[in-house]
Amino acid sequence: MNKKGLLIVVSGPSGAGKGTICKEVLERRDDIFVSTSATTREPRNGEIEGVNYFFISREEFERKIAEEEFIEYAEVYKNLYGTPKETVLDKLNQGENILLEIDIQGALQVKKRYPEGVFIFILPPSMAELKSRIIGRGSETPESLERRFSSAFEEIEFVNQYDYYIINDQVKRAADLMESIIDAERCKVIEDIEEIVTMFKEEV
Ligand code: ADP
Ligand code: 5GP
Repeated sequence: MNKKGLLIVVSGPSGAGKGTICKEVLERRDDIFVSTSATTREPRNGEIEGVNYFFISREEFERKIAEEEFIEYAEVYKNLYGTPKETVLDKLNQGENILLEIDIQGALQVKKRYPEGVFIFILPPSMAELKSRIIGRGSETPESLERRFSSAFEEIEFVNQYDYYIINDQVKRAADLMESIIDAERCKVIEDIEEIVTMFKEEV
C-alpha cells in the first residue's frame, strides 16, 4: 500500500514535558521523524544548529514568510518560530510520519490546512508541578518564567481543540500513551479501506 505519512502535532504549555516525551518516543521508534523548525530565538546552552532549530535572523525569517516557506509560523514569547513547508509535505507524501512540536497558534493553523493530522496536547499533572519543572529546567530568567507560567493558564483552555490529551505524570507512561495514539491512528480505516479490500481480493 502506498500510504501517506501521519502528521503528528504536539503542543502544551512550556514545561509540561513536550520535548522530553517526544525525545523518548523518537528514541524508541525509527518510523517517526521530527521536523526542525526555524526560530529567531538565541540558542540555549547545548542546542545545535539544524538539530534543535535553524537559528535565523528576524530579517531572514520575514523573507521566508514572504516566500511562503512555512506551513505555519507564530510569535511565541517575543520570538518567531516556523515549520518548513516543503520538507514536511515531501516527507508525508513519501509515507513518512512527521512529528511537529509547536505552539497552539501554529497547531491551529496546521489543523486548518491539514485536518487529517493527529493533534495531541500535553498537560502537566498540576500547575505547581509545571512551575517547578520550568524552574528545574533552569533555562528561563525570572521574567520569562513568569511569562511562560501565566500563559499556561490561557493555553490549557485550548485542549478542547485537540484530538487527544496526555497527562505527563511519568515520562515512560506518557511516551507509551503517545505511541498508542500514533499506532491507533495508523490503523484507522479511512480512505485506505478500498485499497485494503482490493489487496485481499487480489490475493485469492
Ligand atoms: P516542554 O518541552 O514542554 O517545555 P520539557 O520537556 O523541557 O518541557 O520539560 C520541562 C522540564 O521538566 C525538564 O527539566 C524535564 O526534564 C522535566 N520533566 C519532563 N517530564 C517530566 C516528568 N514526567 N516528571 C518529572 N520531570 C519531568
Ligand atoms: P522553546 O523556545 O522553549 O524551544 O519553544 C517555545 C515554544 O515554541 C514551544 O511551545 C514550542 O512548542 C514552540 N515552537 C517550537 N517550534 C515551533 C514552530 O515551528 N512553530 C510554532 N508555532 N511553535 C513552535
